[in-house]
Amino acid sequence: MSTQPPWLEPIRQRLVQRGRDGRLPSGVLVSGSPGVGKALLTTSLVQSLLCQRVSGDESACGECNACRSLEGGVHPEVRLLEPAEPGKDILVDAVRDATEFLTLSGSGGALRALIIRPADALNVNAANALLKTLEEPPAGATLFLEAARPASLPATIRSRCQQVDVVSPSIEQVHEWLAAETDQHERVAEAYAASLNRPLLAREILTDSAALEAWETDRQILTGLLNAADLHSSAAALQRSVPERLLPRLQALLLSAQRLLLAGQLDAFGEQFPRDRLLDFARARGARRLAWLAQQSLEWQRQSGANLNPALRSETIALALGRR
Ligand SMILES: [Zn+2]
Repeated sequence: MSTQPPWLEPIRQRLVQRGRDGRLPSGVLVSGSPGVGKALLTTSLVQSLLCQRVSGDESACGECNACRSLEGGVHPEVRLLEPAEPGKDILVDAVRDATEFLTLSGSGGALRALIIRPADALNVNAANALLKTLEEPPAGATLFLEAARPASLPATIRSRCQQVDVVSPSIEQVHEWLAAETDQHERVAEAYAASLNRPLLAREILTDSAALEAWETDRQILTGLLNAADLHSSAAALQRSVPERLLPRLQALLLSAQRLLLAGQLDAFGEQFPRDRLLDFARARGARRLAWLAQQSLEWQRQSGANLNPALRSETIALALGRR
């Protein structure tokens, strides 16, 4: 069984203790960067409180009926509210349904939990529908709102929750934890760079062959782009990955190129690529062009959820990258 990330453990223990003392607020807003472990924290907290075998601030046993039904997603006191499809909004009907669950269920247990994952996905009407429940929560109910961008939530929601901020761990903490999770110690730095400093994704790259393969594909595509091949082969290469995954890595590569050109130093992401090629690429474009491309790559990421023609999108990017 994998170990709890050490930066989450103190927060979990503190909240479990509060839960045992009956002092858990009715709204807990768990905030922190993507991939820092918000969902893991919420899940392990709820599980610790519902586990039938542990006491104090111990973590859940993973074996009792409560733990097993939680892990199977069928615990009667826990409801997970997610968008119907990844990246889409959580709609008002889904919120009404979930808050109704909070009022109807209740076997008098320690906790009834509604986990909203992510709360950033609540649209305006859905957030409004949640307000009443946060103001007058049914007895024993706690709402956990996970949010990478808590500032985007309505102030009325935020003010009714207690915010728990999961601070990003230091690079030493991450390396120590990842090293304990895998026997591929020599790949820890690479995986963390490839994850763009998201510890949980880094662990996936180290332990799940599909995630590793996806990174290797992306690295190959990006290395190919550095070679300044012709427009059509670059555009075709870009289509071998998904924009949501590739474009943040493209931006990281552009920032690495910029840094190499200006400061003569490779950052951890840049180290995953041949230095000479990266430097040639950077020199051929110059600092201003690189800054523009890095800025532009943000725009490409914003559009990546949109329903654009993939061929057209790739050609636009390949054209911009190729121009010197
Ligand atoms: Zn248990």
